[in-house]
Amino acid sequence: MSAIVDALAGACREHGVDLRTGTPVARVLHGPDGVGGVITPTGEEFRAPRVISTVNPHHLFRDLLADGAMDPGIRDTVLAEPMRGSAFKVVLEVDSLPPYAGLPKDADPETVRACQFRFGSSPRTIENAITEALAGRTGDEILMWGLTPTLTSPALTPGTTHLISLNAWHAPYQPQDGPWDAARTEHFGYRCVAQLGLLMPGIADRIVAHRFMNPVEMAAELGLAGSNITHGDMLPAGLFGARPHPALADHRTPLPGFYVGGSGTWPGGYVTGTPGRNTAAAVLRDLAHDEQRPHP
Ligand SMILES: Cc1cc2nc3c(=O)[nH]c(=O)nc-3n(C[C@H](O)[C@H](O)[C@H](O)COP(=O)(O)OP(=O)(O)OC[C@H]3O[C@@H](n4cnc5c(N)ncnc54)[C@H](O)[C@@H]3O)c2cc1C
Repeated sequence: MSAIVDALAGACREHGVDLRTGTPVARVLHGPDGVGGVITPTGEEFRAPRVISTVNPHHLFRDLLADGAMDPGIRDTVLAEPMRGSAFKVVLEVDSLPPYAGLPKDADPETVRACQFRFGSSPRTIENAITEALAGRTGDEILMWGLTPTLTSPALTPGTTHLISLNAWHAPYQPQDGPWDAARTEHFGYRCVAQLGLLMPGIADRIVAHRFMNPVEMAAELGLAGSNITHGDMLPAGLFGARPHPALADHRTPLPGFYVGGSGTWPGGYVTGTPGRNTAAAVLRDLAHDEQRPHP
């Protein structure tokens, strides 16, 4: 994943883009003619005739856009959509990798080890994990997918240790029986490790360091509202022209010069780049259209 980010950043710099990381936007500025730019929490203003937002639509409408920027009915509809999330992250540093259990005889162990692995033994267990999470609980079998990134990017750890990166589902953002704390986080994390041991026998004994990240930490540290990885559920009511709202369906908005992209817009989440690509296309079309208009 970091290779994709590096490639995008490199392409931007080649085109003279000034990238600012660690500088959140506090508000989107607007005036009677449309969007005016953005302002940071320290009061630094960036003036621009066009602004694109790819943050979670809840964050955008709740925190960044002033009441008068757009019809408040749009905001109310967007915020009425639930922002349920259930992502839990496990990162293990291990001194060595065990052979995988249960491999077919003709499988090359080294090739298999470099692949992504998944836990979800049947449609029933998958459905159970989701149903339990909606009720604020964790199911018996944890859905997990993961990989060992150091097999392809050895520089991620110093020396000869490996990283194992696991995504675990569904860990409800708001557990039914109390908030996430250190004990709950360690307990769920070690349940994930125990389940990983079915594929990698003895893995727990090879751990030299670990980081478990509960859904609330995911939201706080990564800005992932509600720990919902697709910036809103990918359910029928929030797809196609309804994502995130019919008035924003083609990535343009009622606020002139202001565009929305990212997972909260169609065609939704995951690392496809498609919402951003389509937003960029809308901006380019509008720029070309403006250039063709006769100047007064
Ligand atoms: C644990 C986990 C595992 C996943 N696994 C997969 C997978 O295997 N395959 C897959 O395809 N997808 C996966 N996803 C989903 C995928 O990562 C997302 O769908 C994708 O990153 C969404 O991209 P995005 O640009 O729309 O939003 P994001 O990646 O959420 O980016 C939004 C950015 O906006 C920033 N931001 C927020 N607020 C502000 C602000 N006020 N000012 C400035 N910046 C702000 C955030 O910090 C963030 O960098 C996973 C996600 C998680 C969390």
